[in-house]
Amino acid sequence: MQKLTKQSLLKHCSYIDGRWMDSEQTFEVFNPASGEVISQLCESSASQVAQAINAADNALAVWQALSETDRARLLERWQGLMRESLDDLAYLLTLEQGKPLNEAKGEILHAANYVKLYSELAAQLTEPKPAACAEHQSATVYRRPIGVVTAITPWNFPCSMVLRKAAAALAAGCTVVLKPSELTPLSALALAQLSIEAGIPAGVFSVVVGSNAQAIGEILTQHPKVAKLSFTGSTAVGKKLLQQCAFGVKRTAMELGGNAPFIVFEDADLDAAVEGAIAAKFRNAGQTCISANRFLVQQSIAEEFIAKLVEKTKALKVGNGFDEVHQIGPLINQRASDKMLKIIDTAIEQGAQLLDGGKPVESPGHFFQPTILTNITADMAIFHQEIFGPIVSIATFDNEAQAIQLANQSDQGLCGYLYTSNQQRISRIVRLLQLGMLGINQARLSNPAAPFGGIKQSGMGREGGHYGIEEYLDYQYVCQMK
Ligand code: ADP
Repeated sequence: MQKLTKQSLLKHCSYIDGRWMDSEQTFEVFNPASGEVISQLCESSASQVAQAINAADNALAVWQALSETDRARLLERWQGLMRESLDDLAYLLTLEQGKPLNEAKGEILHAANYVKLYSELAAQLTEPKPAACAEHQSATVYRRPIGVVTAITPWNFPCSMVLRKAAAALAAGCTVVLKPSELTPLSALALAQLSIEAGIPAGVFSVVVGSNAQAIGEILTQHPKVAKLSFTGSTAVGKKLLQQCAFGVKRTAMELGGNAPFIVFEDADLDAAVEGAIAAKFRNAGQTCISANRFLVQQSIAEEFIAKLVEKTKALKVGNGFDEVHQIGPLINQRASDKMLKIIDTAIEQGAQLLDGGKPVESPGHFFQPTILTNITADMAIFHQEIFGPIVSIATFDNEAQAIQLANQSDQGLCGYLYTSNQQRISRIVRLLQLGMLGINQARLSNPAAPFGGIKQSGMGREGGHYGIEEYLDYQYVCQMK
């Protein structure tokens, strides 16, 4: 197994106001591929979290005193260091999260691309604009950084979720206090170390770590100096955080759960659809908010599609992400594995048919067999649940209207996939699908320039491109008598 070459990237405590801060209490971080403890980290105390927010507030003046070009230069340096440290960052990511090393590298490079893009975009957006007004007045609209941003991120993309938020906020002139998932804090702390090396001033980007997410979350949402919370995680936690933010009328950006339909029409290229299905379902062991969650396949080709999908799925190798023969790593923890079993049992009880997989892999760690369930219908629990694991759940439809109706039958509206060779059909139905993002005849949507985010209970706000920076800018309208 590869080792960490730059030991200074492995940190054990929070980074607050430019300093690494110990505390008495600790929590453990586990390797999901073995179940073993990787590291003991210091818990951030409540006063340390408040200290990070106060430091971020003080640092606003320092950060905003820099020109956009100077801020951009620091971000540019930060992303350069990420690329230089690619092997080490990927090592830490696979160690704490489990995904195959090549996926970890892809995530880091993708995240670095966001930072690069934001370093270039900020200046264009903050340019003041004249507004129409009466002859005796002059009117100008300024874009102002909203202030201190707190960010809470999940464990499935420990690097890119952090940077999509932090880089956009920093580019806009805001300062950031981040709380990464307690399951995968090592990547975020390594990024903090690189921010020091890039020259980002103390207090501008702090990282607080701890296992008491609720207690830390209360401070991050309710401290009077916080202007905005950006959250990525489950819809249930997002709803709680929205309530907490309501007291102080904090701005929020919420990237919550998905329930992506993967629709295959009879006129689709079935081999391409199967390849897309494998990518959209099994990347990160199915633990992504844009994972295909409900396969909707036209009845006339269902048998052929399923046969091809079963064959390809059987060829996938599950195992330690450090071994390059494996395409699927472990689930994040035992709870995730238990959840898969429960989903499968309930689906079978409700009439689903198990075609492949269905069990944890018998080995240390939290590996789970790629699983295929058919005969799914919209009245089953699985149809309405975000699976977040390697289970393919297949329902069928007879015609286009039914496909659209099934696809939209969800409280979530993050993302979906559509396979058809009929361009007229595409033109007809794209606008009818209640989704924030849609892949057509391909399953790879990642693009730092695009607005990533959902509608319905999948959240509000967008990350990526200029949309991402605008989340961190307010308007100020100034009208002057001539
Ligand atoms: P998942 O189910 O994917 O782990 P969660 O929504 O539970 O998603 O977690 C996403 C992030 O939210 C993590 O950083 C986690 O620590 C944090 N979190 C979980 N519960 C709370 C809470 N009650 N308040 C604030 N943050 C929370």
